[in-house]
Amino acid sequence: MLCIFCSEERPPSLEHVFPLAIGGTITTDRVCEPCNSMLGTRVDAALSDFFPIRTRRAQLRLAGNSGNPPVLHEIFLGQVKLIGQTADRAQTTFNTATGKLDTRQLYHATEIVTPDGKKTRQITVDERDKDQIPIIIQRERKRHGLPPLSDEQLSIESKNYTVNSIDSPLVQVSLSVSFAYLRHAMMKIAYELAFLWLGESYLADPLAADLRAAICKSDLASTDNLPGYVGEAENCPPFTNFWTPHQERHLAYAQIVGGTLIIAVRVFDIYAAAIVVSKEPGRYFRRPTDSVKLRYLAIDAVSGKTIDTTFEEESKRLLEAMRQYQRRPPFTDPLSSSEPEARCQSNP
Ligand SMILES: [Zn+2]
Repeated sequence: MLCIFCSEERPPSLEHVFPLAIGGTITTDRVCEPCNSMLGTRVDAALSDFFPIRTRRAQLRLAGNSGNPPVLHEIFLGQVKLIGQTADRAQTTFNTATGKLDTRQLYHATEIVTPDGKKTRQITVDERDKDQIPIIIQRERKRHGLPPLSDEQLSIESKNYTVNSIDSPLVQVSLSVSFAYLRHAMMKIAYELAFLWLGESYLADPLAADLRAAICKSDLASTDNLPGYVGEAENCPPFTNFWTPHQERHLAYAQIVGGTLIIAVRVFDIYAAAIVVSKEPGRYFRRPTDSVKLRYLAIDAVSGKTIDTTFEEESKRLLEAMRQYQRRPPFTDPLSSSEPEARCQSNP
Protein backbone atom coordinates (compact mmCIF):
# COMPACT_ATOMS: atom_id res chain seq x y z
CA MET A 1 0.00 0.00 0.00
CA LEU A 2 1.18 3.51 -0.91
CA CYS A 3 0.90 5.77 2.16
CA ILE A 4 -0.81 9.11 1.37
CA PHE A 5 1.55 10.93 3.74
CA CYS A 6 5.07 9.49 3.36
CA SER A 7 4.48 8.06 -0.16
CA GLU A 8 6.23 4.83 0.91
CA GLU A 9 5.00 1.30 0.22
CA ARG A 10 4.14 0.08 3.70
CA PRO A 11 1.52 -2.10 5.44
CA PRO A 12 -1.76 -0.23 6.03
CA SER A 13 -3.30 0.82 9.35
CA LEU A 14 -6.73 2.11 10.35
CA GLU A 15 -6.72 5.90 10.23
CA HIS A 16 -9.67 8.00 11.46
CA VAL A 17 -10.17 11.10 9.32
CA PHE A 18 -11.91 12.93 12.19
CA PRO A 19 -10.10 11.60 15.30
CA LEU A 20 -11.82 8.70 17.07
CA ALA A 21 -11.59 10.73 20.31
CA ILE A 22 -14.12 13.22 18.92
CA GLY A 23 -16.40 10.49 17.57
CA GLY A 24 -15.04 10.35 14.01
CA THR A 25 -16.67 7.62 11.92
CA ILE A 26 -14.87 7.95 8.57
CA THR A 27 -11.70 5.88 8.18
CA THR A 28 -9.10 5.12 5.54
CA ASP A 29 -6.56 2.29 5.29
CA ARG A 30 -4.18 4.37 3.18
CA VAL A 31 -1.98 5.63 6.02
CA CYS A 32 0.98 3.55 7.19
CA GLU A 33 1.44 2.70 10.88
CA PRO A 34 4.42 5.09 11.48
CA CYS A 35 2.54 8.04 9.88
CA ASN A 36 -0.68 7.12 11.71
CA SER A 37 1.14 7.00 15.02
CA MET A 38 3.02 10.29 14.42
CA LEU A 39 -0.16 12.07 13.28
CA GLY A 40 -2.12 10.62 16.20
CA THR A 41 0.19 11.86 18.92
CA ARG A 42 1.10 15.23 17.45
CA VAL A 43 -1.72 16.30 15.16
CA ASP A 44 -4.94 14.51 16.19
CA ALA A 45 -4.17 14.96 19.89
CA ALA A 46 -3.81 18.72 19.35
CA LEU A 47 -7.44 18.81 18.27
CA SER A 48 -8.88 16.22 20.68
CA ASP A 49 -7.12 17.83 23.67
CA PHE A 50 -7.75 21.44 22.64
CA PHE A 51 -9.39 22.74 25.82
CA PRO A 52 -12.90 23.57 24.49
CA ILE A 53 -13.00 20.28 22.55
CA ARG A 54 -11.74 18.24 25.49
CA THR A 55 -14.45 19.82 27.64
CA ARG A 56 -17.06 18.87 25.02
CA ARG A 57 -15.74 15.29 24.92
CA ALA A 58 -16.20 15.16 28.69
CA GLN A 59 -19.79 16.47 28.40
CA LEU A 60 -20.64 14.02 25.61
CA ARG A 61 -18.66 11.20 27.28
CA LEU A 62 -16.63 10.46 24.15
CA ALA A 63 -13.97 7.96 25.12
CA GLY A 64 -11.92 7.45 21.98
CA ASN A 65 -8.91 5.14 22.00
CA SER A 66 -8.30 5.14 25.76
CA GLY A 67 -11.81 3.86 26.58
CA ASN A 68 -12.22 6.60 29.20
CA PRO A 69 -13.77 9.96 28.38
CA PRO A 70 -12.04 12.99 29.90
CA VAL A 71 -13.63 14.22 33.15
CA LEU A 72 -15.13 17.70 33.40
CA HIS A 73 -13.55 18.49 36.76
CA GLU A 74 -10.00 17.75 35.60
CA ILE A 75 -9.36 21.43 34.88
CA PHE A 76 -9.90 22.23 38.56
CA LEU A 77 -7.39 19.67 39.79
CA GLY A 78 -3.88 20.44 40.92
CA GLN A 79 -2.41 23.57 42.47
CA VAL A 80 -4.84 26.44 42.87
CA LYS A 81 -4.65 29.85 44.53
CA LEU A 82 -6.83 30.94 47.44
CA ILE A 83 -7.82 34.53 46.80
CA GLY A 84 -7.34 36.95 49.70
CA GLN A 85 -5.24 34.58 51.83
CA THR A 86 -1.61 34.96 52.83
CA ALA A 87 -1.21 31.20 52.81
CA ASP A 88 -2.77 31.08 49.37
CA ARG A 89 -1.44 27.83 47.94
CA ALA A 90 -3.90 24.96 47.84
CA GLN A 91 -4.28 21.62 46.15
CA THR A 92 -7.52 20.38 44.65
CA THR A 93 -8.14 16.66 44.28
CA PHE A 94 -11.19 14.65 43.31
CA ASN A 95 -12.60 12.63 46.17
CA THR A 96 -13.98 9.45 44.63
CA ALA A 97 -15.78 8.53 47.86
CA THR A 98 -17.84 11.74 48.03
CA GLY A 99 -17.77 12.52 44.29
CA LYS A 100 -16.74 16.06 45.18
CA LEU A 101 -13.66 18.20 44.81
CA ASP A 102 -11.43 18.48 47.88
CA THR A 103 -9.41 21.64 48.29
CA ARG A 104 -6.63 21.39 50.83
CA GLN A 105 -4.56 24.37 51.93
CA LEU A 106 -0.85 23.71 51.49
CA TYR A 107 1.88 24.19 54.06
CA HIS A 108 2.89 27.82 54.35
CA ALA A 109 5.62 29.30 56.59
CA THR A 110 6.22 32.98 57.23
CA GLU A 111 8.38 35.11 59.59
CA ILE A 112 6.37 37.33 61.87
CA VAL A 113 7.42 39.75 64.64
CA THR A 114 5.28 39.52 67.79
CA PRO A 115 4.21 42.71 69.67
CA ASP A 116 7.03 42.14 72.20
CA GLY A 117 9.59 42.24 69.36
CA LYS A 118 10.27 38.51 69.18
CA LYS A 119 10.80 36.99 65.78
CA THR A 120 8.69 33.89 65.35
CA ARG A 121 7.76 31.56 62.58
CA GLN A 122 4.11 31.17 61.72
CA ILE A 123 3.07 27.98 59.99
CA THR A 124 -0.25 27.51 58.24
CA VAL A 125 -1.46 24.02 57.47
CA ASP A 126 -4.80 22.56 56.50
CA GLU A 127 -6.85 21.61 59.55
CA ARG A 128 -6.93 18.03 58.33
CA ASP A 129 -3.12 17.99 58.63
CA LYS A 130 -3.02 19.14 62.28
CA ASP A 131 -1.63 15.81 63.51
CA GLN A 132 1.48 16.76 61.55
CA ILE A 133 2.13 19.79 63.82
CA PRO A 134 4.69 18.09 66.14
CA ILE A 135 6.67 16.86 63.12
CA ILE A 136 6.51 20.31 61.51
CA ILE A 137 7.75 22.04 64.71
CA GLN A 138 10.74 19.70 65.02
CA ARG A 139 11.56 20.07 61.33
CA GLU A 140 11.37 23.87 61.41
CA ARG A 141 13.57 24.01 64.56
CA LYS A 142 16.15 21.79 62.91
CA ARG A 143 16.10 23.93 59.78
CA HIS A 144 16.80 27.05 61.87
CA GLY A 145 19.58 25.47 63.95
CA LEU A 146 17.51 25.09 67.14
CA PRO A 147 17.70 21.99 69.35
CA PRO A 148 14.73 19.61 69.25
CA LEU A 149 12.04 20.02 71.91
CA SER A 150 11.51 17.38 74.57
CA ASP A 151 8.32 15.33 74.28
CA GLU A 152 6.78 17.37 77.08
CA GLN A 153 7.64 20.76 75.50
CA LEU A 154 6.54 19.49 72.14
CA SER A 155 3.15 18.41 73.44
CA ILE A 156 2.64 21.92 74.92
CA GLU A 157 3.83 23.72 71.76
CA SER A 158 1.74 21.47 69.54
CA LYS A 159 -1.43 22.77 71.20
CA ASN A 160 -0.36 26.37 70.56
CA TYR A 161 -2.34 26.94 67.43
CA THR A 162 -5.39 28.82 66.31
CA VAL A 163 -8.00 27.59 63.89
CA ASN A 164 -9.12 29.98 61.17
CA SER A 165 -11.86 29.03 58.80
CA ILE A 166 -12.21 30.68 55.43
CA ASP A 167 -15.83 31.48 54.66
CA SER A 168 -16.73 30.89 51.03
CA PRO A 169 -13.15 30.45 49.85
CA LEU A 170 -12.43 31.85 46.41
CA VAL A 171 -10.24 29.56 44.37
CA GLN A 172 -8.35 30.75 41.33
CA VAL A 173 -7.52 28.14 38.69
CA SER A 174 -4.97 28.89 35.99
CA LEU A 175 -5.77 27.44 32.59
CA SER A 176 -3.54 27.36 29.59
CA VAL A 177 -5.04 26.73 26.18
CA SER A 178 -2.70 25.52 23.48
CA PHE A 179 -3.35 26.29 19.82
CA ALA A 180 -0.26 24.38 18.71
CA TYR A 181 -0.81 22.06 15.74
CA LEU A 182 -4.55 22.88 15.56
CA ARG A 183 -4.00 24.19 12.04
CA HIS A 184 -2.15 20.96 11.17
CA ALA A 185 -5.04 18.93 12.61
CA MET A 186 -7.75 20.70 10.60
CA MET A 187 -5.64 20.53 7.43
CA LYS A 188 -5.09 16.80 7.98
CA ILE A 189 -8.85 16.20 7.97
CA ALA A 190 -9.26 18.28 4.78
CA TYR A 191 -6.35 16.51 3.05
CA GLU A 192 -7.65 13.03 3.86
CA LEU A 193 -11.17 13.96 2.72
CA ALA A 194 -9.72 15.36 -0.52
CA PHE A 195 -8.00 12.03 -1.13
CA LEU A 196 -11.15 10.03 -0.30
CA TRP A 197 -13.40 12.22 -2.45
CA LEU A 198 -11.15 12.94 -5.44
CA GLY A 199 -9.43 9.58 -5.66
CA GLU A 200 -5.93 8.34 -6.35
CA SER A 201 -5.11 11.12 -8.82
CA TYR A 202 -5.27 13.67 -5.99
CA LEU A 203 -1.90 12.43 -4.71
CA ALA A 204 -0.26 13.96 -7.81
CA ASP A 205 -1.82 17.41 -7.22
CA PRO A 206 0.92 19.96 -6.45
CA LEU A 207 -1.10 21.35 -3.53
CA ALA A 208 -1.62 17.83 -2.15
CA ALA A 209 2.17 17.45 -2.00
CA ASP A 210 2.46 20.79 -0.15
CA LEU A 211 -0.32 19.83 2.26
CA ARG A 212 1.05 16.40 3.25
CA ALA A 213 4.59 17.77 3.64
CA ALA A 214 3.38 20.62 5.89
CA ILE A 215 1.08 18.37 7.97
CA CYS A 216 3.88 15.87 8.66
CA LYS A 217 6.44 18.48 9.71
CA SER A 218 6.96 19.04 13.42
CA ASP A 219 7.57 22.72 12.62
CA LEU A 220 4.61 24.60 14.12
CA ALA A 221 4.70 27.21 11.34
CA SER A 222 4.84 24.69 8.47
CA THR A 223 1.12 25.04 7.65
CA ASP A 224 0.96 28.84 8.08
CA ASN A 225 1.51 29.72 4.43
CA LEU A 226 -0.94 27.21 2.99
CA PRO A 227 -4.15 28.95 1.89
CA GLY A 228 -7.22 28.59 4.03
CA TYR A 229 -9.07 29.70 7.16
CA VAL A 230 -8.65 27.80 10.41
CA GLY A 231 -10.28 29.17 13.53
CA GLU A 232 -13.42 29.47 15.59
CA ALA A 233 -16.52 27.93 14.07
CA GLU A 234 -18.66 30.95 14.85
CA ASN A 235 -16.50 33.13 12.59
CA CYS A 236 -16.60 30.74 9.65
CA PRO A 237 -19.26 31.85 7.09
CA PRO A 238 -18.86 28.70 4.93
CA PHE A 239 -20.76 27.05 7.81
CA THR A 240 -22.62 29.81 9.64
CA ASN A 241 -24.32 30.88 6.38
CA PHE A 242 -25.85 27.43 5.83
CA TRP A 243 -26.17 25.29 8.97
CA THR A 244 -26.99 26.14 12.55
CA PRO A 245 -24.28 25.11 15.02
CA HIS A 246 -24.69 21.75 16.72
CA GLN A 247 -22.87 20.68 19.88
CA GLU A 248 -22.56 17.02 18.87
CA ARG A 249 -21.95 17.16 15.14
CA HIS A 250 -19.11 17.42 12.67
CA LEU A 251 -19.68 18.67 9.13
CA ALA A 252 -17.52 18.74 6.01
CA TYR A 253 -18.05 19.50 2.34
CA ALA A 254 -16.20 20.28 -0.87
CA GLN A 255 -16.92 23.23 -3.13
CA ILE A 256 -15.27 25.02 -6.03
CA VAL A 257 -14.84 28.67 -5.11
CA GLY A 258 -13.10 31.20 -7.35
CA GLY A 259 -11.28 28.56 -9.38
CA THR A 260 -9.98 26.70 -6.33
CA LEU A 261 -11.27 23.54 -4.69
CA ILE A 262 -12.08 24.09 -1.03
CA ILE A 263 -12.84 21.59 1.67
CA ALA A 264 -14.61 23.04 4.68
CA VAL A 265 -14.56 21.17 8.00
CA ARG A 266 -16.45 21.98 11.19
CA VAL A 267 -15.66 20.18 14.46
CA PHE A 268 -18.68 20.46 16.79
CA ASP A 269 -19.74 24.11 17.02
CA ILE A 270 -16.22 24.92 18.18
CA TYR A 271 -13.61 24.89 15.46
CA ALA A 272 -13.79 25.19 11.68
CA ALA A 273 -11.61 25.38 8.60
CA ALA A 274 -11.99 26.14 4.93
CA ILE A 275 -8.86 24.79 3.25
CA VAL A 276 -7.82 25.15 -0.38
CA VAL A 277 -7.03 21.55 -1.37
CA SER A 278 -6.41 22.18 -5.09
CA LYS A 279 -5.69 25.18 -7.29
CA GLU A 280 -6.48 23.07 -10.36
CA PRO A 281 -10.04 21.74 -9.93
CA GLY A 282 -10.06 21.03 -13.69
CA ARG A 283 -7.96 17.93 -12.92
CA TYR A 284 -11.02 16.31 -11.28
CA PHE A 285 -14.07 17.99 -12.79
CA ARG A 286 -14.11 17.33 -16.52
CA ARG A 287 -17.57 15.82 -16.99
CA PRO A 288 -20.87 16.96 -15.47
CA THR A 289 -21.08 13.63 -13.58
CA ASP A 290 -17.84 14.50 -11.79
CA SER A 291 -19.89 16.79 -9.54
CA VAL A 292 -20.52 13.71 -7.35
CA LYS A 293 -16.94 14.21 -6.12
CA LEU A 294 -18.16 17.34 -4.35
CA ARG A 295 -19.27 15.56 -1.19
CA TYR A 296 -21.16 16.59 1.91
CA LEU A 297 -20.63 14.84 5.23
CA ALA A 298 -22.44 15.11 8.58
CA ILE A 299 -21.37 13.00 11.57
CA ASP A 300 -23.13 12.70 14.92
CA ALA A 301 -20.27 12.17 17.37
CA VAL A 302 -22.47 10.51 20.00
CA SER A 303 -24.62 8.11 17.98
CA GLY A 304 -22.11 7.65 15.17
CA LYS A 305 -24.89 8.32 12.67
CA THR A 306 -23.28 9.60 9.48
CA ILE A 307 -24.71 11.19 6.36
CA ASP A 308 -22.34 10.91 3.40
CA THR A 309 -23.96 12.51 0.37
CA THR A 310 -23.21 14.96 -2.43
CA PHE A 311 -23.08 18.70 -1.91
CA GLU A 312 -25.72 18.88 -4.66
CA GLU A 313 -28.15 16.74 -2.65
CA GLU A 314 -27.55 18.84 0.45
CA SER A 315 -28.08 22.05 -1.58
CA LYS A 316 -31.44 20.68 -2.78
CA ARG A 317 -32.41 19.99 0.83
CA LEU A 318 -31.46 23.54 1.83
CA LEU A 319 -33.43 24.97 -1.11
CA GLU A 320 -36.41 22.87 -0.13
CA ALA A 321 -36.15 24.16 3.45
CA MET A 322 -35.99 27.74 2.13
CA ARG A 323 -39.19 27.19 0.19
CA GLN A 324 -40.92 25.43 3.04
CA TYR A 325 -40.01 27.92 5.77
CA GLN A 326 -39.89 31.01 3.56
CA ARG A 327 -36.57 32.18 4.86
CA ARG A 328 -32.87 32.00 4.15
CA PRO A 329 -30.46 29.51 5.78
CA PRO A 330 -28.94 28.65 8.22
CA PHE A 331 -30.97 25.49 8.76
CA THR A 332 -30.21 22.46 10.90
CA ASP A 333 -27.97 19.81 9.32
CA PRO A 334 -29.61 16.77 7.66
CA LEU A 335 -29.07 14.60 10.78
CA SER A 336 -31.86 16.61 12.40
CA SER A 337 -35.09 15.45 10.82
CA SER A 338 -36.87 18.80 10.85
CA GLU A 339 -36.55 22.41 11.86
CA PRO A 340 -37.70 23.06 15.44
CA GLU A 341 -39.39 26.29 14.25
CA ALA A 342 -41.29 24.26 11.66
CA ARG A 343 -42.81 22.03 14.32
CA CYS A 344 -44.13 25.11 16.10
CA GLN A 345 -45.64 26.42 12.91
CA SER A 346 -47.33 23.17 11.96
CA ASN A 347 -48.88 22.74 15.43
CA PRO A 348 -50.38 26.15 16.17
ZN1 LIG B 1 3.38 6.85 5.83
